[in-house]
Amino acid sequence: MADGLHASARVALADPTAMLDRLCGHFTEHAAVTRRSGGARFDGPFGAVELDIADAALGISVISPNESYLFVVTSSVAEHLFEFAGGEAVALSWQGDLPTEARIPYFREAVVRSAHDITPAMRRVVVACDDPAHFETGGLHVRLLIPPPGRAPVWPKVGPDSRVIWPEGEDELARRVYTIRAIDHVRRELTIDVVLHDDSPGSVWARNARTGDRVGLLGPGGGDVVPADWYLLCGDETALPAIARIAASLPAAARAAIVIEVADRTEEQQISSKAALEITWLHRNGLSAGSTDLLLDAVRAIALPEGGEPFVFAGCEQAAARAIRKHLRAERKLPKERHLVAAYWRRGHSDVHDHGE
Ligand SMILES: Cc1cc2nc3c(=O)[nH]c(=O)nc-3n(C[C@H](O)[C@H](O)[C@H](O)COP(=O)(O)OP(=O)(O)OC[C@H]3O[C@@H](n4cnc5c(N)ncnc54)[C@H](O)[C@@H]3O)c2cc1C
Repeated sequence: MADGLHASARVALADPTAMLDRLCGHFTEHAAVTRRSGGARFDGPFGAVELDIADAALGISVISPNESYLFVVTSSVAEHLFEFAGGEAVALSWQGDLPTEARIPYFREAVVRSAHDITPAMRRVVVACDDPAHFETGGLHVRLLIPPPGRAPVWPKVGPDSRVIWPEGEDELARRVYTIRAIDHVRRELTIDVVLHDDSPGSVWARNARTGDRVGLLGPGGGDVVPADWYLLCGDETALPAIARIAASLPAAARAAIVIEVADRTEEQQISSKAALEITWLHRNGLSAGSTDLLLDAVRAIALPEGGEPFVFAGCEQAAARAIRKHLRAERKLPKERHLVAAYWRRGHSDVHDHGE
């Protein structure tokens, strides 16, 4: 295999062909899968995997560009291998460039430095982190690992087979995805803006955050912003931090239309950028979040510029995200690489761990 970090393993199995079939079936969703006689190759965003059957065993060989990505691939292969093995006893032991520490390579502990309300329903929590540069590229978001109130945190560990061992019972962590709105390298601080909406784990954490509280961060993830001449950045208040961070990163030559749905005028915030911004605020005026077509209607009404490369970003409740994505693809014929429309939350459901870091 080519240059990069490597890991390999050989797993004896009762039916390695059945395992190969199931792994191929699953990873088709996440990677380009190429089948060949007695083996397969997966090429995905985090690296490549070669699978080969020999002597009643499945040989696995992984190459990835960095330690975090290598771990993403080996842990994902391991999780699915054990899941698909059902009750069969499986011995999986990796050789190669995996970290020797039992720590997820993209885990960092942070400590709350301050917390204050920036609007009636948005609380800013600033956390100190030894390694802010780690969060600069690879995505705008992190998964916050929130310890149970009043308990010292127990962080996840990595087992010898590369699977993550999560603390359970009284030490179980709540996991919620948030955007890093700003990174201050000098003060070694990350800023996270949290919507206060319920007595939910994320809201309660932000409401009660006190200087010195410890919190875990997994990430960053979600990819970087695609260069374009013209942007449409839209979303509800949960995507306001992402929109503000993207706007702050745009060059002076860019133009951006920004559309943000919030409860009312008191939730509007300053959005700063070197680029030329045209900002529209949509107010729900008493209607509940996730219950209106305000965003979809506003996106429908916006004309994409003729010529140049556009990019549309949207983050909002799942139903609205689906409707906006459908509109962009079916009616605007916007190619996949020219838009990113993400469900940031789902009405009536708690975070379901499937947004990717
Ligand atoms: C990539 C990404 C980036 C995100 N960035 C941010 C961010 O920077 N700031 C931020 O505040 N959120 C952000 N979110 C959204 C956040 O992860 C969800 O809102 C999450 O559900 C909040 O967790 P919770 O513990 O407060 O509520 P949960 O326990 O997950 O949900 C409890 C209940 O509250 C409802 N609910 C969840 N969110 C909202 C809401 N915003 N308004 C009304 N009802 C809600 C749910 O439908 C559920 O019924 C982001 C999500 C993604 C995927």
